[in-house]
Amino acid sequence: MANCCICGRRIGGFGEDKHKITNDYVACYKCAPLFRKIINSETTEQLEMSEHELRIEIESKNVSREIIDAVENEIQRIKDSKQFMYQQEQFQMQKEEEIRKKRKAFMISTGYNFEGYKIQKYIDLAHGEIVLGTGFYSELSASISDLLGTSSKTFEGKLSQAKRAAQEQMIINAMTLNANALIGVDFDITTFSNNIIAVSANGTAVVIEKIEK
Ligand SMILES: [Zn+2]
Repeated sequence: MANCCICGRRIGGFGEDKHKITNDYVACYKCAPLFRKIINSETTEQLEMSEHELRIEIESKNVSREIIDAVENEIQRIKDSKQFMYQQEQFQMQKEEEIRKKRKAFMISTGYNFEGYKIQKYIDLAHGEIVLGTGFYSELSASISDLLGTSSKTFEGKLSQAKRAAQEQMIINAMTLNANALIGVDFDITTFSNNIIAVSANGTAVVIEKIEK
């Protein structure tokens, strides 16, 4: 069993919390959290403070040059991987923002044109579908018997929710086809014998462009 390269404590059994710095150098359960703090730091300030804390600990322990170098390498490695993660996050956020913008600008119509726009390209049919499961019909009959309409509102609410969700799926489908609009949009409601109802939305995915005046 190895000793902690920082404080010299013997590293105990199998389950002990430790941080492997290199194949030769391992930090014990008391020193490992100093690395963990760097790994888990959420701001540059936290990161720098955690680094500082680890360096002070190392200096106070009078360890060899080799160990100091190994620890410095490890700090750099952690920082590099954090930088990579940060860049990934930024990239992901930018992508999501782009999709949100495109979704916001996306236009749909039950008709075949948009005032002030021309259709530049017809791409393909786009489709979205939501299946409502068992229990839907029992709610429906309850809503019919309840003429005062509270459950019928629930039913309508569910159906329009399903329509909206089907529409949203259709739009996402069209966006993946690089469309920025849908024309000729309509909805179908299909009922199946086993208490299942499917709401589907269909339309033609197109690219539209504003007509310059
Ligand atoms: Zn230690």
